[in-house]
Amino acid sequence: MASSMQYWAVIPATGVGERMRADRPKQYLNLQGKTILEHTLDKLLDHPLISGAVIILQQQDEYWSGLNYAHAKELLIADGGEQRHHSVYSGLQVLQQHLQQDCYVLIHDAVRPFVRHKDLDALIDAVQVNDDGALLAAPVADTLKLVDESQQVDKTISRRGLWRAFTPQAFRLELITDALQHVVSSGQMITDDASAMELAGFHPKIIDADSMNIKITHPNDLAIAEWLLKRD
Ligand code: C5P
Repeated sequence: MASSMQYWAVIPATGVGERMRADRPKQYLNLQGKTILEHTLDKLLDHPLISGAVIILQQQDEYWSGLNYAHAKELLIADGGEQRHHSVYSGLQVLQQHLQQDCYVLIHDAVRPFVRHKDLDALIDAVQVNDDGALLAAPVADTLKLVDESQQVDKTISRRGLWRAFTPQAFRLELITDALQHVVSSGQMITDDASAMELAGFHPKIIDADSMNIKITHPNDLAIAEWLLKRD
């Protein structure tokens, strides 16, 4: 179904990347001549249906302006917050003020540059017909163990019906802004945006996606990232 509403990327890039133990936030590490953040922005903005991006940065960000990043599509900047969901909420508010009408948002971690355009196509198809929203994900492949404090197995958990949630996660701007506003004002803790919709009673749709859409987090991920860049 064709929709007249625009699609915008919303990219939280406020993390400090403690687990990477690098000299700068992980989104500013270089991969074959470009920062991870630039790879991610190019990937989303190069998709023909995406109109522009909101990038959410730390208020004291020292790196962004030095990149001189430019793209033919519109870029908006928002200030980040304490937790990821505060940052996303701030970006959505900037977008609402800019557009003054509803649109679809694809909320995507700055450190996932390997999302594939065919998965973005599937996500966009799904969100157009589903106000609950949609997210990329992959089924859990390993056996799951619940362990106690001494690292001993308490029990094995069935992996049936369990999925690993990735980004982008796509929603109607108005609905996800309302859902996140409730989470922020009630002080709840969430680790992805779909959780805000779930708390508001929605049931976002899972899109089975390429599991190489990794979140670059640990030093070892950089070697995998170099390899994935050659694949792309
Ligand atoms: O820390 P984590 O790996 O969960 O971060 C996922 C994404 O959320 C990253 O792109 C990071 O920059 C962003 N983030 C943010 N604001 C925070 C924490 C994380 O924009 N307060």
